[in-house]
Amino acid sequence: MSNLGFRPEDVALPVGHFLAGKLVSGKADIVVTSPGNGHILAHLPEAGGDLVDEAAQTAARVQRQSGWADCAPRERAKILRRWADLVERNAMELARLETVCSTRPIAQTVGWDIPFLAEGIRFFSEYCDKVGGDVATTATNLLGMTVYEPYGVTGAIAPWNFPLVMASWKVVPALAAGNGTVLKPSEMTPFSVVRLAELAIEAGLPAGLFNVVQGSGIATGEAICRHPAIGKISFTGSTRTGIAVMKAAAESGPKPVTLELGGKSPQMVFDDIPSVDDVADRIFRAFTGNAGQVCVTGSRLIVQRGVAEALISALVARCGQVKALAPWDENSLYSPIISESQANHILALVQGSVHSGAQELVACKRMNTQTGGIFLSPGMVMVQNSECPLWHEEVFGPVLAIQVFDEDDQAFALAEHPVYGLAAGVHTASLPRAMRAIRTLKAGTVWVNRYGRSSDFVIPTGGFGGSGIGKDLGRQAFEANLRLKSVLMAAE
Ligand code: NAD
Repeated sequence: MSNLGFRPEDVALPVGHFLAGKLVSGKADIVVTSPGNGHILAHLPEAGGDLVDEAAQTAARVQRQSGWADCAPRERAKILRRWADLVERNAMELARLETVCSTRPIAQTVGWDIPFLAEGIRFFSEYCDKVGGDVATTATNLLGMTVYEPYGVTGAIAPWNFPLVMASWKVVPALAAGNGTVLKPSEMTPFSVVRLAELAIEAGLPAGLFNVVQGSGIATGEAICRHPAIGKISFTGSTRTGIAVMKAAAESGPKPVTLELGGKSPQMVFDDIPSVDDVADRIFRAFTGNAGQVCVTGSRLIVQRGVAEALISALVARCGQVKALAPWDENSLYSPIISESQANHILALVQGSVHSGAQELVACKRMNTQTGGIFLSPGMVMVQNSECPLWHEEVFGPVLAIQVFDEDDQAFALAEHPVYGLAAGVHTASLPRAMRAIRTLKAGTVWVNRYGRSSDFVIPTGGFGGSGIGKDLGRQAFEANLRLKSVLMAAE
């Protein structure tokens, strides 16, 4: 790819809330910094209860009065398809808004995030007129039915690691199902979703149906969860915050929640793999993609003794090849860490584990860049047992914890996590081993001989246990934005 690079100071940032189709400013106290160079990009206003109320009431009024829920569902689909087209037409602008404040390199936002976003909108548009209710088998003098209806307004709370894609997985199915919605992006990545909301209006979405409120979790996020006009919450973020979201939703409803939370996903490698290099490529991508700041990061390697030495040295070699370039450099492939405090947290977790006996194979260290960005090099640590913090705590950074096994039963025992159950990978040429992994691993997604999602949006994503409740993507994510009403009609 060429000509993708840009200068951050040339990007015009939409700073503010997006209410009823207009950018709204306010007292701006939240400092937004770029992880690519540590510079301050903007001061962001924070929505308190009053502004969240205005956003929710506006969405509710527009949802009732605009005909969005009442029109032929194909009309909604048409607007969503136009929205996807506009996303593609404005890809470069959206990609820059995403890259300037997040950890996503420009070649990846242009090459993956924006195309994936546009296709995701098209995917949910296809469900608008495909999901209906049932007719029940009743006595012939009765007509029994179940019909789906939207909640009215949904609340969406998104993290910073893939700001546009994560927000769209919440907002788009909600809108496709006939709802209005109020989105709070992360206060660290607040810009690109505002442009996304503007493009929705250009595509024909009634202004005020999709509102964006800016602010911290405590002030703005909690107000969304507790608002009485908001009937359902879709949240992506850490497990700790997910519990707070569920509590607030329970106390103010109760209202249903979809929670996409943290993980500590294992990758099992058996010594029957046909190619060490291919598996090393997969494992390396799985723990260094977005510098490990991915919910499904494959951060625990469970490797059979026969192949351990070869695989570990192939991974060590790959760690040395990473280059730190500012995300707006067109050659950048490796991501910065979102903030200083997150970088310190990652390093402290590694140091704590090493002090308690873990063996550092490759040190995770600060990397210097010309721009002064916050970069950590990939690290690999041999862990002495499953009590080691690196084995059970989500790092959200580029650090791989490793344990070696001899017998299959040991590998399956090591793969279990007492809290998380988001994803798991198994790399083997043996069908029985793959089948055992599919059947027994407690994970919302099991990848066999690959690691990571494809562009098959029809496959839902979501975790078990402490990794969450409900699904993003798939028909299930669309249906989660509808409630089922039962109808019984007498013939006379
Ligand atoms: P976070 O939990 O700190 O914040 C997520 C969002 O919640 C932000 O918008 C934040 O402002 C808001 N928030 C914070 N406190 C809140 C509260 N009390 N009430 C309501 N909202 C509140 O997470 P993060 O640091 O932004 O993202 C990283 C985490 O997200 C990791 O744990 C990662 O695994 C998880 N994640 C999960 C998935 C998934 O699909 N399972 C995807 C991406 C990220």
